Amino acid sequence: MTQITPKRGIMDIALYVSGESRLAGRDTVLKLSSNENPLGCSDAARAAYAAAADDLHRYPNTDHAPLRRAIGEVHGLDPDRIICGVGSDEVLQFVVHAFAGAGDEVITTEHGFSMYPILARMVGAAPVTVPEAERRIDIDAILAAVTDRTRVVFIANPANPTGTMLTQDEVQRLVDGLPQSVLLVHDGAYTEFAAGADGGAGLVDRHSNVIMTRTFSKIHGLGGLRIGWGYASRQIIDVLNRIRQPFNLSNAQMAAAEAAIRDTAFRDHCADLNARMRERLRNSLIQMGIGCDESFANFVLARFADAPEAEAADAALRADGILVRRVSSYGLPAALRITVGDEEGVTRVIDSLGRFKADRR
Ligand code: PMP
Repeated sequence: MTQITPKRGIMDIALYVSGESRLAGRDTVLKLSSNENPLGCSDAARAAYAAAADDLHRYPNTDHAPLRRAIGEVHGLDPDRIICGVGSDEVLQFVVHAFAGAGDEVITTEHGFSMYPILARMVGAAPVTVPEAERRIDIDAILAAVTDRTRVVFIANPANPTGTMLTQDEVQRLVDGLPQSVLLVHDGAYTEFAAGADGGAGLVDRHSNVIMTRTFSKIHGLGGLRIGWGYASRQIIDVLNRIRQPFNLSNAQMAAAEAAIRDTAFRDHCADLNARMRERLRNSLIQMGIGCDESFANFVLARFADAPEAEAADAALRADGILVRRVSSYGLPAALRITVGDEEGVTRVIDSLGRFKADRR
């Protein structure tokens, strides 16, 4: 019997672990483990998705033109320099697929998003992980790690799971220090939660070796539909389109995304609620003696004394029907990442952790 074996390196790829959604013995849980929007999605997006059911026999439009036009109008960007994918994960995959391969290096950071090393390995490239400084991306550490094999550098800004953010000047220093042959991916999955941030669009306009990626999964509350996009030079977008499956997005996905991005009132309402609830959650954690850096995203990183305390806090939250994210695999064993919920969700987290802390005194 022949034995089918995968290509070299495939078995080195870690399986992605997503935020849990179920808790044994409970029908309903408060799910704060995947940075989802507590308000769901825009009504207009849901209606557009339902209306698309009339055309299920039709192949989708391959160039995503109406959706790209809508993104371009709302963000003031050239639609010809936008590419859409199945979540921003797919856009990130296009990047490694097109620009890295065996023998190449892809730089990621100590607490960076776990998909980056997975994507590097998928194309046979070596992920190079550089240290962070106090849970912030360290520009000098990245620049020191660049070799003549480096092809891609991934940063998320705001970062997941730390919630920290680099200033525009810091990102500019990174781009200025990178060789032109290295592509910087400025992942803006959480941009809309950071007041005034442009996600890296300005940087893309000034530098041909930068791509910005964005998602409909977070602020637009469409994680279940899987839609993301990227913005880069025409040349880079042309390269990425060559390796994109022609029908990667369904008409229903595109219709919902277009309605979602045009519903700027809902978007702003979500950003405003998040900012208020994030502040409330952070202040309460700090008052309880739990460490919490300023977050620029839709989650906070709660830091406990040590890993056993984080584990016990996680167990206490679970006992109260609340699911958050353990982040040991991100090099943060003493921390929990907690998605910012709505008023009631945040209250439940504060009450649960308050009881947990009181019981330990
Ligand atoms: N980048 C970052 C930093 C993320 O946290 C996530 C979602 N966990 C993604 C990209 C991918 O999101 P999606 O594929 O849903 O667009």
